[in-house]
Amino acid sequence: MILTGEVFDGEKFIGTKSIVIEENKIKEIRDQEEESKGIILPGLIDAHIHFFGVKEDNLISWNLTPEGLSVARSFKDMINLLASGFTAVRDLGSKSAIFLSKAEKEGYIPGPRIIASGYSIAETGGNDDPTDLPLDMAQRLSYSFYCDSPWECRKAVRLAMRQGAEVIKIYSSGAFSQRGYPKPALTVEDIKAIVDEAHRSGLKVASHAYGEEAIANSIEGGVDSIEHGLGLTEELAEEIKRKGIFYVPTLATYSKEIKIRELDEEVAVKRKELIDKHLNEDVKIAVEKGLKIVAGTDYVGSPERRHGDNYKEIVLLSRFMSLDKALASATSIAADCLGLKMGRIAEGYEANLVMFRKIRNADDLNPENVVYVVRKGKLYDPQNLKAIFS
Ligand SMILES: [Zn+2]
Repeated sequence: MILTGEVFDGEKFIGTKSIVIEENKIKEIRDQEEESKGIILPGLIDAHIHFFGVKEDNLISWNLTPEGLSVARSFKDMINLLASGFTAVRDLGSKSAIFLSKAEKEGYIPGPRIIASGYSIAETGGNDDPTDLPLDMAQRLSYSFYCDSPWECRKAVRLAMRQGAEVIKIYSSGAFSQRGYPKPALTVEDIKAIVDEAHRSGLKVASHAYGEEAIANSIEGGVDSIEHGLGLTEELAEEIKRKGIFYVPTLATYSKEIKIRELDEEVAVKRKELIDKHLNEDVKIAVEKGLKIVAGTDYVGSPERRHGDNYKEIVLLSRFMSLDKALASATSIAADCLGLKMGRIAEGYEANLVMFRKIRNADDLNPENVVYVVRKGKLYDPQNLKAIFS
């Protein structure tokens, strides 16, 4: 198969080329041999999602939806992701993604390559602990392992790996899904133990961090990526840069109205300040300090945060950087963050591509403009994919 178009190779536009695909690989990139039909990008990557398969977007639904139902509903999300040009995603905490990943690899369902964390790791009473429930019930239903010492944390990493985790996800702070203002969680000693245990098996550690202290603890603990990273400062950004840590700001989630549970006025105001700073200043600091910024939506598959709309993160990032850089954050840089040999159009790479009719700016990455998607060398018409569920 030969595909011709204006090519973005993962870092820059390289002109109109003809890409020769044999079996599932990019065999050769030749000078233009036929008429260009659009813009060809490496398949897009969303580095932070959850396959919750939920109709309502709240902590109780994320935890209480039965595993089987969550998996079944997520088939549609996988198809929507693929049809919108996403050929890899990283699920950072859910009960279903490990199984979806396996089924996709085995060829039972088409979809993006899924790097899944399995259960995430959190402290007791911390994020992802629905504290309205008795503890034994919360732990039974949770998609996190709760642990409260370095040794318990090591055990939790081993349990996640036993599930089939390809990355380890930790909660270094609370989040907005809980009551109150998010506090730091897990100690630096806990985080160091998790990182040591994960790295011993070649797995990276992704750290959910809200606020300066949680970001500082994550850096000191040696994590590989800071997720969300609200409250970034210049000093913290310099440390993140020095250590080569990836920064995944997940702006798409904060640009939406977030449902907040029974908040008192003071907490609501402080939360809004943190969000406004994140949406307006944090990425600016990250760009100025030269961080490796990665596109991740934190979409969960609810109607508000729908899989298939994931390009919106690239739109938000493009406000702070050039189109080339924004595209790289969702292709080559994202692939490096996930540790995958993907996100680039180069000889020898697996053929994971997407063609758009036009890309004048990031808004044109709207799924309406997708001409075709190539996953593992197989060409999909997005309309045919979507027809399965219409
Ligand atoms: Zn998340």
